[in-house]
Amino acid sequence: MNILITGGAGFIGSHLAHLHLQKGDRVHVVDDLSTGRRTNIALLLGHARFTFSEADIVTWDGLDAAIHGIDRVYHLAAVVGVRRTLEDPVRVVKTNIAGTERVMRAIEKSSCLPEVLIASSSEAYGFNPRPTFRETDDLLLHSRDRLRWCYAVSKLTDEFIAFSYADKFGFKLTVVRLFNTIGPRQVEHYGMVVPNFVQQAVTGRPITVYGDGSQTRSFADVRDTVRALDLLAGNPLAAGETVNVGADQEISILALAELVRERAESDSEIIFIPYHEAYGEDFEDITHRRPCLDKLFQLTGFQHQWSLTATIDDLILRARAERGLLEAKELGLS
Ligand code: UDP
Repeated sequence: MNILITGGAGFIGSHLAHLHLQKGDRVHVVDDLSTGRRTNIALLLGHARFTFSEADIVTWDGLDAAIHGIDRVYHLAAVVGVRRTLEDPVRVVKTNIAGTERVMRAIEKSSCLPEVLIASSSEAYGFNPRPTFRETDDLLLHSRDRLRWCYAVSKLTDEFIAFSYADKFGFKLTVVRLFNTIGPRQVEHYGMVVPNFVQQAVTGRPITVYGDGSQTRSFADVRDTVRALDLLAGNPLAAGETVNVGADQEISILALAELVRERAESDSEIIFIPYHEAYGEDFEDITHRRPCLDKLFQLTGFQHQWSLTATIDDLILRARAERGLLEAKELGLS
């Protein structure tokens, strides 16, 4: 198959590129390297079936040509995460909204319509009061802070744009709402909790729990997530569907801090940082987040291969190895 991955040098996109190369597909990645990194795809760059275009999806003049003859498009290029969107909401409009519409227009023009999967987010559910979030649930965004929800609104707009084009022009579209995803290549400097905690535990720095740590999340390993995306994108029954992708084991952030500290055998202290210090005044955190995965399981028979503890152990090993390399470099040993 010929695969195009927008945002393919990012955390999830690079794992997806890897998966498809392993399957024998031809993979074209476009990424502007704003948050994606060349190191994420360094091992793929020399591969005969891999092409990389460093370009902004909104202005890339190679988009129409790249989509021509493509069998499947994964559209992942976006400004991701609440913290980053709060820093630059205009970029969210440009990349997440204008970028998605541009990709849809290019698909509309292509002679052989590809199957398409676009990444939406669990943020779209907002303050859903239900214990698990189902694709059919109402979406509850508070009106208090207008910018807090710009990420969720941009992703909902993407869903609407994509479904409008798919309905009108008749291509197969699946929208996935991604829940918290963790794994190798996720960097800590955007504030994501697991890479933060792992780095803090491995370096002996305090582990920073925001609020009182009672908020919960459910974490899926990216290597599971990309298998689920592949299964959905290739499944005719997933056409026109919105599907949750993630893991359904919920853990409080305080329990996560304790788990990371224990697995790393770290002496790090756990400290509590008030939300206003972490995010600024008036920030409303999501109190709990767990996907209902019935639809994913029914459509694909998907099974997770990674437990949270296994992923954390793997990340601790990798963080230690990277630190070892760094220290060797500092000492002039490598
Ligand atoms: N969080 C934390 N300490 C950190 C980073 C994050 O306690 O160093 C909390 C954050 O407030 C949220 C949860 O961990 O409640 C997950 O945060 P992340 O940014 O990873 O994802 P999201 O908020 O989008 O679910």
